Order: sequence, then C-alpha cells, then structure tokens
Amino acid sequence: MTTTADPRRSVPRTDQVLADPRLRAAAQRLGPDLVKQAVVAAQQRARSGELAPTEVADAAVASLPAQASSTRRVINATGVVLHTNLGRAPLSPAAVDALVDAAGYTDVEFDLADGSRARRGRGTLAALAAAVPAAEAVHVVNNGAAALVLATTALAAGREVVISRGELVEIGDGFRLTDLIESTGARLREVGTTNRTKLADYADAIGPDTGCILKVHPSNFRVEGFTSSVDVGALGGLGVPVVADLGSGLLTRETLLPDEPDADTALRAGADLVTGSGDKLLGGPQAGLLLGRTAVVERLRRHPLARALRVDKLTLAALEATLRGPRTPTWSALHADPDGLRTRCEALAAALEGVVAAEVVPSDGAVGGGGAPGLTLPGWAVALPPAYAAALRTGDPTVVARTERGRCLVDLRCVDPDDDGRLADAIRAVGTATAAPGQA
Ligand SMILES: *Cc1c(COP(=O)(O)O)cnc(C)c1O
Repeated sequence: MTTTADPRRSVPRTDQVLADPRLRAAAQRLGPDLVKQAVVAAQQRARSGELAPTEVADAAVASLPAQASSTRRVINATGVVLHTNLGRAPLSPAAVDALVDAAGYTDVEFDLADGSRARRGRGTLAALAAAVPAAEAVHVVNNGAAALVLATTALAAGREVVISRGELVEIGDGFRLTDLIESTGARLREVGTTNRTKLADYADAIGPDTGCILKVHPSNFRVEGFTSSVDVGALGGLGVPVVADLGSGLLTRETLLPDEPDADTALRAGADLVTGSGDKLLGGPQAGLLLGRTAVVERLRRHPLARALRVDKLTLAALEATLRGPRTPTWSALHADPDGLRTRCEALAAALEGVVAAEVVPSDGAVGGGGAPGLTLPGWAVALPPAYAAALRTGDPTVVARTERGRCLVDLRCVDPDDDGRLADAIRAVGTATAAPGQA
C-alpha cells in the first residue's frame, strides 16, 4: 500500500462544485442539467489529471454556453435583406421590447375594464386596420402560407380555385403553393398559359363549382417578353371572391419596389381578400396577414381551422409594435444610402489594416425572401480572402458573409451600424488566429 495521495480523492464532489455562485446563477439561466453535465465533465478531466482539482469549478464555468437556446445570433453580412435561412426580418428595438413585455401574463385575450374575455390581439388588429384603411376587416395567423391555406379552405374546400398558369409558384425548400392549396381539399382550375392569361380565360372557367379566384404574385421569378396577365381590378366583375396573395407584407405602395403589389392598392382595385407575410417586406415577426371585406374575413375567422393557425402573443406584440413603430431595420437596409455604406466599408477596411488585405468593392444587395427577384440594391462590401467566410461563420460574434467570385464579401447593408465595431473585432480575431492566405 502506498501513501501517495490519490488525485481522485481530492476532486471536489458535485454538490460542492454546484454551490459555486457562478454555477448557481448559470443553473437559473441555463437549467440545472446543462450545468451539472459541465461539472461532471470537469470532474472527469480532473480525475484524468488534465486539470488540478481546484480548477474544476472554473473549467465548468468556462465550458458553459452563453445562453439557454442553441440559436446563435449572427451578423448578416450577405447583403440579402430578407434571408430566409437567417430568420428573415430582424425586429426593430420597439418590437423586441414589445415581445419581451408580452412574455409574461398579458391581457392578450382579456378585458381589464370589465374582467371578461376579449378579442384576442385586438390592439394588433386595430394597428393593422389603421395601416390599411381600405381593409374593412383584418385577421392575423401564423404565416403567409397559413393565411393562404385558411383562405382557400374557407372559400373553396371541395370546390375550385381558379388560378393562372403563370402564377403556380414554388416558394422555397420544395414547397409549392399548388400543393398547399390542394392539401385543403380545394381543386385547382388552371387557366391561361405560363406567359399569357386573359380575362376571358378566367371568365370561361367560372361556374357553380368556383370557390374563388386566386391571384398569386410571382414573387421569386419573372416572366419577360410576350406576356399578359389580368389585374385584380378586372377580376372583380366576375361575381366570385377574388383573393390576392401578395407574397410579402407590403401594406402600401413602395416606390423603391415598383413591381411589388401592396395590400392597399389590391383592395382599392377590388380584391375581396389579400393575404400577406409579416416577416417579408413589412419587416416584422413571422405572421400571416389577412385583409379584406368584413364578410370574407369573418368567414375565415370563424372557420375551425383558424384555431389551429392562431398566432402567439409574442408575435401579436411584436407585430403591433412593428405596425405602429418607427422605420424597421428591414426598411433601413432596403433604403441604405450607397455613399453611407461605402464610408462604413472604408472605416472597416481601415480598422483591418495590418491584419488582412481588405478591399472596398461595389456589391449588389438583394431583397431576398423570394421578393423582387429582378431588383439589385447597389451598395458596397469589404472583400476578404475566401478562407474568411468559413472562419467568420464559426467565430464569435458569428458573421455570415457572401462568397462571390472567389472572395469573401462582407456587405454592410444589413449590418446594424452599432455592430460595425463587433464585426471588425470578429474579422480581426480570424486574422490573428489563422495565417489566412492574403494576409497583409
Ligand atoms: C413567401 C410567400 C408565401 C408564404 O409566406 P410565408 O410567410 O413565408 O409563409 C406565400 N405566397 C407567396 C407568393 C410568397 O412569396
């Protein structure tokens, strides 16, 4: 028998380590299981001699994630404003405050004056109605696709949805609006051709089986050349409900985006119902917007499916703040002044001097989110060696840049100017950690 101290005996017990105030605070934030796992792993390292027994608590603290959710915040340096893979619209500070406030108990469906049940999200609905006076009534569901499903179910299940062959859209990730509509039990009645559809095509298709006419904005592609289509206004005279799917959340005309339809114009032209998306051009949370005639909107609102598409209180709060609040980050990114972007890019390149060869180059941004496909948004980017793209994606802060023509382009259009400093830090961290090719 030897008398040498067994290091395993001096490794502190789990409950001792967990008493560390930093770990107790972390358990409140991250949940007890994650913290315990971190402690057990650190004890293991101490037993194997990798750590001194006195270092167990420090090692456990160091190995903990920063937050309870695995969702990573990223700086969007792609130049694509509504990047679906990056969560589309970043919420405005007002919308973030509103959703934090709504996280506890709220009066979302309760009348504080008389203590009775109230219309869910009535403040949000009032804000939406106020933003589009041409709408007699409004309703909100989970997303644009849900709005379309609710509309076609309530108006045309077991009947026909008349739609132009030029408007059969696949919206992304393999999802097709045609499949979505047919999944409701409505039958598609396709009219016209890919490039040309006339009023007579619609008129000939309408009969006792017609549930509604659907006009879909071909948001993510363009047909050019020998084309014709029928405006919502002309379809109003055919005696059946006309539904217009905007493919965005544009509520009123936007001069920057002349080809994007908006709710106000469509309703004034005679659409009975407009469906839209809260996190596309509106710049709010994911939501489906329904605006139109009272009788149609009420029919949708009272349909049993409406309950399955009911929108969360956090969404309602963020949407109302978006509707009432100041310009959104989405608006700012779309309207960013090219000269301002260039100045910021030059400052960023200067901050990287001695770290990496950074060149300020013209860079075309895009609306994204399947919107305004023909439109480029002129701007500027800082070009870095290509190896930076992957390193920035896994760095901290996490930056998603654009790889183009063998370069890593850091486009500042969608970067909050308050984040320019953090962005420079992230690039410098990559530059000093790696001997990336092209280093200055
Ligand atoms: C994006 C889109 C939708 C779906 O909206 P989500 O909010 O993404 O569900 C529906 N129709 C068109 C034309 C679209 O572009």
